[in-house]
Amino acid sequence: MFENIQKKLSLAVKNLAGKGKITEKNIQDAVRQVKMSLLEADVNYKVVKDFISKVKEQALGKAVLESLSPDQEFIRVVKNNLVELMGGEKPEKIIVSRNPGFIMMAGLQGSGKTTTSAKLANMYQKDGKKPLLIAADTYRPAAIDQLEQLGEQIGVPVFTGDRKNAVKIVKEGKKYAEKLLHDIVIVDTAGRLHIDEKMMDELDQIKELINPEEILMVVDAMMGQDAVNSAKEFNSRLELTGLIVTKLDGDSRGGVIISTRQVTQKPIKMVGVGEKIEDIEPFYADRYASRILG
Ligand code: GDP
Repeated sequence: MFENIQKKLSLAVKNLAGKGKITEKNIQDAVRQVKMSLLEADVNYKVVKDFISKVKEQALGKAVLESLSPDQEFIRVVKNNLVELMGGEKPEKIIVSRNPGFIMMAGLQGSGKTTTSAKLANMYQKDGKKPLLIAADTYRPAAIDQLEQLGEQIGVPVFTGDRKNAVKIVKEGKKYAEKLLHDIVIVDTAGRLHIDEKMMDELDQIKELINPEEILMVVDAMMGQDAVNSAKEFNSRLELTGLIVTKLDGDSRGGVIISTRQVTQKPIKMVGVGEKIEDIEPFYADRYASRILG
């Protein structure tokens, strides 16, 4: 991912280096390249516009113009701003402090929500916790079976209840978790192809029932602007605490990372980097920024 940005940027920077000295015009060329490559990576237009005006202002500042290696300074400015855009240097953690603590998973169908729920459960189990998965995605018929299979694979119990009424499943699952002293409960909720009122109403009810410490929306990096729009809608309705961006191992254009964060102002807490159960990791903004810049 981000290959395009990387190619364009390194070209722009090479041109700068060749000139020895940065002029306002050189910077404008490089800035234009940055702008185009971000747009091509599917970053939302308004986000790009704001980003560019910041970079331009800083790149035309004294520090860059008077630097001995203005090309490197320029890269530094772009990188710093990219890191900031993606949430800063430090990865944001999923925080569960209650006992049991609830993590509510949300997202559109196909985003990787069920897989990610199991990935998280596996992560906590490895960490010495006693997780429980609640299968409350009653809309996609295979989702409950899929979660059961994944649970079996990783040795984490999956509460399925009557498999029909999501709110009821969660209510009973909560009691079950308390009785069996599970300390972390991950609730896989309904995913539809599109957002609709009935689904949102169900998510509201589940949220009220479990009072989750984390409400994480799973978004598919390959979905581009659709992912961004749905993140915005989920956030305004549910007040997300964070995002998990999946499929970053694919040939996605990666802009979803930047845009979803910007439109929701919520941190990317983890990223999915493959189909296997271990393919989940914290999100390091500076690593992604370095990858972009090559
Ligand atoms: P759900 O409908 O949101 O519950 O989606 P699923 O969990 O069933 O995932 C949909 C597809 O995406 C499955 O084939 C998963 O294996 C795949 N998937 C999920 N996360 C990742 C990821 O990080 N990388 C890749 N390559 N595939 C993923």
